[in-house]
Amino acid sequence: MPARTGAQFLQGLRDRPRELWLEGERVADPVDHPAFRNVLRSLAALYDLQRDPALRDEMTYASPTTGERVGLSFLMPHTHDDLVRVRTMMKRWADFSGGFMGRTPDYLNRSLMGYASAAAYCAENDPRFGEHIRRYYDYVREHDLCLTHTLINPQANRSVGPSQQANPYLAARIAEENSRGIVLRGARMLATLPAADEIMVFPSTLLRAGPDDAPYAYAVALPTDTRGLRFLCRESFDYGKSHFDHPLGSRFEEMDAVVIFDDVQVPWDRVFLLRDVEKCNRAFAATGAVAHMAHQVVTKNVAKTEFLLGVASLVVDAIAIEPFQHIHEKMAEIIINLETMRAFLRTSEVDAQVNRWGVMQPAWPPLDAARNVYTRMYPRMVEILQQLGASGLMAIPTERDFAGAQGETIRTYYQAARADAVSRVKLFRLAWDIAVSAFGSRQVLYERYFFGDPVRMAGAMFNAYDRRPYMERVRAFLERAEREAPELEAAPGE
Ligand SMILES: Cc1cc2nc3c(=O)[nH]c(=O)nc-3n(C[C@H](O)[C@H](O)[C@H](O)COP(=O)(O)OP(=O)(O)OC[C@H]3O[C@@H](n4cnc5c(N)ncnc54)[C@H](O)[C@@H]3O)c2cc1C
Repeated sequence: MPARTGAQFLQGLRDRPRELWLEGERVADPVDHPAFRNVLRSLAALYDLQRDPALRDEMTYASPTTGERVGLSFLMPHTHDDLVRVRTMMKRWADFSGGFMGRTPDYLNRSLMGYASAAAYCAENDPRFGEHIRRYYDYVREHDLCLTHTLINPQANRSVGPSQQANPYLAARIAEENSRGIVLRGARMLATLPAADEIMVFPSTLLRAGPDDAPYAYAVALPTDTRGLRFLCRESFDYGKSHFDHPLGSRFEEMDAVVIFDDVQVPWDRVFLLRDVEKCNRAFAATGAVAHMAHQVVTKNVAKTEFLLGVASLVVDAIAIEPFQHIHEKMAEIIINLETMRAFLRTSEVDAQVNRWGVMQPAWPPLDAARNVYTRMYPRMVEILQQLGASGLMAIPTERDFAGAQGETIRTYYQAARADAVSRVKLFRLAWDIAVSAFGSRQVLYERYFFGDPVRMAGAMFNAYDRRPYMERVRAFLERAEREAPELEAAPGE
């Protein structure tokens, strides 16, 4: 079928009730539940963009199996132009939320595409697995399904691996292998957007498992309504407020959940890697999936930084703080961050090469640099927004305050140099939802961690980056310096 409409996406969720648990109760239908309905409508709007006739070529391409127009975020790239095309599509989706939705479906569509392009990698584990991942990719693309994923074991005792925890079934473990497939028992964290259609339960991009961890080593995917699968959601940060009061939280609260596998039967055709610790450790890098995902992530970073620059600039303008030099410095810092992200993104495309699976893979070093540095850039930009807004971020009456008895007083005292009170409060509530609210704090945590622990990402970079040419160059320089050192002449009188 062609790329779905928003209505089809929402109907798909209604047709297949999954076990979402929130504040002690099972969510009957996320489409109508206050914690989920707004973000699901935002996602529906993204799906609708794919069906906008004016955006047909930008958002979709002809399916290689059916010829129908399917979502461009599934495209297997073979040329540099393909990467630019995919990025242009992803940027339109990222701009829709100002980059505040981390789980627009393109994020995991790029991951799945990367895995499917490297089906031979899975086939090396078991010849059946290559065919499984290829078919799963076709299935998700042709049904335009929305994915979530979970890669990390529960945070109980981080000084030992999953096999050495107090309970061997704390981390989701292969409990049984039978004629139908494998059975998983235990937990995983942390699935953002648990209301999705399907979940990828894949190895970590960073955590290295040891030989004892084979029962925890696998890559599988499941419909989220599979029996025994439960999602324990955190408290919602969508407080049911208006778009005026909570401009971001009322639209883009994606939710995060711990995933429980209560003897979940995974059919064989959904198993892509099994018990091969080494292959699981290397999977994201070896398949190229991590580079394709990072291409999406950095596109989102550009959109998010552009949005932050817009908000910060409007704050500066509204309260006329542009004469002050430290404001220039802070604004320049955001601009430099934006240009840095853009440069990394373009370099990853220009330096892309066809990988060993025959697919055009964005260059990893600039994307790796971008994903490392953005964990520091984003919290700093939020800090800058706090420094620009100062107490104005607390002078933020609600829509009801404006309608209430103090409305006129608020209109008088909350005006700004270049904005009336309503416009000023609307803007500052947006800045507050980025820099102060629960939604905003979660975004900071997200940018710090969602793509991996920054400490271990830096460690991975240190270990993998080929520094030898530079060491050789400096060694050669040191030798040359010795050879070329001028004879010291004896000082007169000596
Ligand atoms: C908002 C949000 C959304 C997320 N969404 C998803 C998702 O959709 N899917 C998914 O799979 N994951 C998701 N994650 C999880 C993310 O992958 C992890 O947060 C990340 O990999 C770090 O792991 P951890 O949180 O378990 O931290 P931990 O590993 O528990 O680390 C805690 C602290 O201990 C330190 N530490 C622990 N072990 C070591 C070590 N071996 N060496 C050095 N330092 C160590 C860390 O540096 C850190 O300071 C999300 C996280 C957040 C915050």
